[in-house]
Amino acid sequence: MQDYTVLLGILLALLLGLAGGKAWERYKLQEGRWVDRRKIRQSPHFILGLNHLVSGQVDLAIEDLEKAARLDPGALELRLVLGNLYREKGQVGRAIHEHQSLLQRPRLSKLEHANIQLCLGLDYRRGGFVDRAAAAFAEVLKLDPNSEAALANLEKLQEDQHQWQEAYVTRQRLAQLAGPPDQPKSQSILAFLENEIGLQALKEGRLDDAARRFEAAIEADGTIVTAFIHLGEVRMRQGDVLAAVSTWERAIDVAPDRAYLALDRLERAYKEMQAPGRFAELCRKLIAASPREWRARLALARHLGEQGRPHDALELLLEGLEHNPHALAIHQAIWNTLSVMDLPRPLVARYIEVTRQSVFYLDPHVCIRCRYRSTELLWQCPHCHEWNTFVEERISPATDQEAEIPAAVT
Ligand SMILES: [Zn+2]
Repeated sequence: MQDYTVLLGILLALLLGLAGGKAWERYKLQEGRWVDRRKIRQSPHFILGLNHLVSGQVDLAIEDLEKAARLDPGALELRLVLGNLYREKGQVGRAIHEHQSLLQRPRLSKLEHANIQLCLGLDYRRGGFVDRAAAAFAEVLKLDPNSEAALANLEKLQEDQHQWQEAYVTRQRLAQLAGPPDQPKSQSILAFLENEIGLQALKEGRLDDAARRFEAAIEADGTIVTAFIHLGEVRMRQGDVLAAVSTWERAIDVAPDRAYLALDRLERAYKEMQAPGRFAELCRKLIAASPREWRARLALARHLGEQGRPHDALELLLEGLEHNPHALAIHQAIWNTLSVMDLPRPLVARYIEVTRQSVFYLDPHVCIRCRYRSTELLWQCPHCHEWNTFVEERISPATDQEAEIPAAVT
């Protein structure tokens, strides 16, 4: 009997302990009153707020999440998120105020402190307070040296200010943290940063420094065409035409689709080497390798035009036009060539005929929702099924107001 009582007592104590633990998990003592932690997550406003967030309705999300936050004024994460939403809406001052007031809370854990500083840094960055943003991210890194978010933001800040050397160091730290899976991406960014440091040296006339940087960029990522182009420039300025030519030819081997970046430069260099025939040869090689290559055709046509061979030039241009009827540069070159030849009627007629056959989007329209293209104005998009989303496609330099249609990608 005695044994039973003891056993029962132990069991009861265990149950009480469990219940106490559960209650502790569920309730939290806050400013003298017990708050139900589950309340927020079970509140319809919390769920609705998340739904609005998912569907991109920031205003409604803020409204509901604010109501949910009132259930537990101490809920740190929710206030953090609300601050971030204010920032996304462009209310940077309000976001800063929200996040700063969170910093005043007593007994913040190290991680909570770091999270708030990170959000504050994002607020400052958005508001254009560069120094304060950098200080906030540095503070995060003091609290949490492995914060990839802080490093990535710091890197962008440094890039914005053209602090290429600092950005390079930051990217190295990021690469170390991310480990092998992220290596190719980091190598490529490091190569672009090397290239920028090289450009700085080039601007200041430090040719040897510049060359070293461009070479390092190529070593980090052998597909960065711009580093080859600049290295060639340095070689040219150092008076080494042969080295310049071989560097630019390597650029074309590495990325034949970007060959046009090197073509003008090579044309001038071959001329200097008294070997202009090499340019035509190179263009023909590029055209043979990629039948749609119109820039090489255009470059060769100009070259032939200058040599007094407009007929050959026109043939090349018409060929290029069939493959790329929307390249305005080809149309211009054709008209140039035709006027040099005094507009012979049969050739003008041929141009018009080729144009009629190959121009697909005579009057291009584009869906602003999914970017589906059509040659006429449509009222419902056949791709995303949205109504009244078509606008005339105009290609012009982007302005802030017109940011809704990104520059055309073709
Ligand atoms: Zn659409």
